Amino acid sequence: MTEIRDTVILGSGCAGLTAAIYTGRAGLKPLVLEGHEPGGQLSITTLVENFPGWPEGIQGPELIENMKKQAERFGASFQMAHLKAVDAGSHPIRLQTSAGEICTRTLIVASGASARWLGLPSEQALIGHGVSSCATCDGFFFRDKEIAVVGGGDSAMEEALFLTRFASKVTLLHRRDAFRASKIMLERAIAHPKIELRTNTVVEEVLSGEEKEVKGLRLRDVKSGQVSELLISGLFLGIGHEPNAKMFAGQIDLDDDGYIKTTGNVLTTHNGAVVPGIFACGDVQDRRYRQAITAAGSGCMAALEAEKFLEAHGH
Ligand code: NAP
Repeated sequence: MTEIRDTVILGSGCAGLTAAIYTGRAGLKPLVLEGHEPGGQLSITTLVENFPGWPEGIQGPELIENMKKQAERFGASFQMAHLKAVDAGSHPIRLQTSAGEICTRTLIVASGASARWLGLPSEQALIGHGVSSCATCDGFFFRDKEIAVVGGGDSAMEEALFLTRFASKVTLLHRRDAFRASKIMLERAIAHPKIELRTNTVVEEVLSGEEKEVKGLRLRDVKSGQVSELLISGLFLGIGHEPNAKMFAGQIDLDDDGYIKTTGNVLTTHNGAVVPGIFACGDVQDRRYRQAITAAGSGCMAALEAEKFLEAHGH
């Protein structure tokens, strides 16, 4: 017979790990399923300056590693597994994963959001060959090269600033002339001598040479319609994220952009009615704040709700 767990946590970013610390400390022996991006977005970022408690900032991967150790200290276990299907209406909840079937009384969905791509065929063909969504992973390969970053939010600013460590020049391309980025990040990018901002500009094609490598971009000015080429060796996308919730479609309510809808902070619903035992936290249900600290906070809430749910059902 398949073992029935008290709590399974889907995702090992800071929401999932906070939920693991709390449910672990409550003696629930949580199982954390780690997917294709273990550690979540913090594990591919650099200095986190706004997580309370580190006055000088802390590196994202170090923060995640600390949280993981803390969760393990309280009895959390970790398994690499992709969720293929879920039966949200069953009790216990049945999860079909790449590591087999897992049964659990409560499920905390902390599967986060993944980097968005432009969707151009030329971009898709060159992912890993000069096109990247992770400056901290791939910036190193562009020492003394000219590169471009697309986006007008904090991610794009952060990537552009980080990439100045390696690249000789970073052109920041944004499709509008108003920015979503916070004032402080935008000002830092504007002030940086290696960064040039080009607004009202979209990428029409990523140009490659005979070898599979990025040679440049075909750009279009959306105001004048003028088309131009920019010679670069690397393209980084900083255009936001897609929630990892597709596998719940039809079983729990998602909004128009695929984020999990929650009520009472972390309770999930199906056709508006609360789904017993399934809680969602972090970026998979948060399109507004999307901060490490808010993800951690909602992970804590999900854990406390799971604990209450189990108590109310005599476990
Ligand atoms: P975001 O704020 O949603 O910004 C995404 C940017 O990409 C927007 O400027 C958007 O343009 C552009 N974009 C989206 N799709 C595009 C497309 N297909 N083609 C061209 N451009 C496209 O996302 P984010 O920058 O990832 O930030 C998400 C959240 O995380 C925010 O709350 C942010 O403050 C936070 N964050 C904080 C830090 C930090 O504090 N250090 C770092 C990173 C992120 P439009 O503006 O025209 O829509």
